[in-house]
Amino acid sequence: MYIPPNWPWPILRSSVWTMRAKRISFTGGPFPRRGSRPLAGMSTAGSMLGTAVSWGWPGFLCKKKLSGGRSLCFLESSQDGVGPMDDPLIVAADLGGTSFRVALVDRRMNILARSAHFTRPQEGASRAVERIIESIRQTASRSSLERVKGIAVATAGPLDPSRGMILSPPSLPTWRHVPLKDLLRDAFPLPVWVEHDADMAALGEYRFGSGRGFDRLIYLTVSTGIGGGVILDGKLLRGAKVSAAELGHIVIDPNGPPCNCGGKGHVEAMASGTAIARMARERLARGERSSLRERCGDDLGKVTAQLVAEGARAGDTLAREVMREAGTNLGLAVVSLIHIFDPDVVIIGGGVSNAGELLLGPVREVIAERAMEDFRDRARVVQSALGDNSGILGVAAFAFEELGLGC
Ligand SMILES: [Zn+2]
Repeated sequence: MYIPPNWPWPILRSSVWTMRAKRISFTGGPFPRRGSRPLAGMSTAGSMLGTAVSWGWPGFLCKKKLSGGRSLCFLESSQDGVGPMDDPLIVAADLGGTSFRVALVDRRMNILARSAHFTRPQEGASRAVERIIESIRQTASRSSLERVKGIAVATAGPLDPSRGMILSPPSLPTWRHVPLKDLLRDAFPLPVWVEHDADMAALGEYRFGSGRGFDRLIYLTVSTGIGGGVILDGKLLRGAKVSAAELGHIVIDPNGPPCNCGGKGHVEAMASGTAIARMARERLARGERSSLRERCGDDLGKVTAQLVAEGARAGDTLAREVMREAGTNLGLAVVSLIHIFDPDVVIIGGGVSNAGELLLGPVREVIAERAMEDFRDRARVVQSALGDNSGILGVAAFAFEELGLGC
């Protein structure tokens, strides 16, 4: 079997991962290796093709549905090793306050290359944008450049999508009115889109994740802050000028703590990862007993939402109570949202959602206690299926549709 000397193994790994995420039966583990076995339920032909890919065949395993419930598995390959030569690609980026990720995505939503970097917003917008441009250039160069049809960026709001201008996001505190779309267009002769990250994550989940099959959904990302996106009757809810659905800034307690945005008592200040860490730190500083003290080496500055979730999972009382309080606070916002939008499903994503039922359980309890009777059983609360790829896949799908190349 011929394997090109410069075969890009990380690209194959990403592709394998994506296919697994899309529940296409596949052989091999997270990294291709000899001797991998087919997964249960895979057809013989599919197994052979999957094994060929996992052994290093320079192609991509694809699956098409045929009539009668049958499926066809086949390989596609190209000279540059990242899919068929005429297959258009989008460079998609997800720019957050902590990190930004850049990916090369094809029309079947395979992630062909992916890299992650620290944003370092405190260095200022111009330095960060320079590094983003360099990452996009490197990612695009993984393919034939003529196949890249556009650059699509999902980033924190509030922003003005029509001008591609980042306005004043709390997660990028020193950034004010950054014309990201113009800066990227100056660097690349390609169409550029700059869209709200939670909107794009909502779109990603609607098309490819936990929202498939539902026409009305709310997506909430719970990480450093809280963002949101709303799909109504299959369409993304847009604002008149600034992006809509800044759902993290719903007031849930008029006497609550200050929010990063300058407001007070917003759900972001009472249920985000930052809030979870702060609530745990405050209780530890008051001298309450908890295993979190050992977990952070008695340095309260090292307490994070992830540490609290780990403590809660291990049975620590203080950590469990903090996670419960955060979930309850999030639930209060969700109760208002389901009364406003009557969604089929509420999807919780973002890093804190990895806490699973520790966060989602209290949300469901608050709905059962406080929502109007007819709303209680209708709104299902589920975890994001795409994890931190929801924004990347959503903004890539958005760009393909804008180009008239939607799949
Ligand atoms: Zn706020």
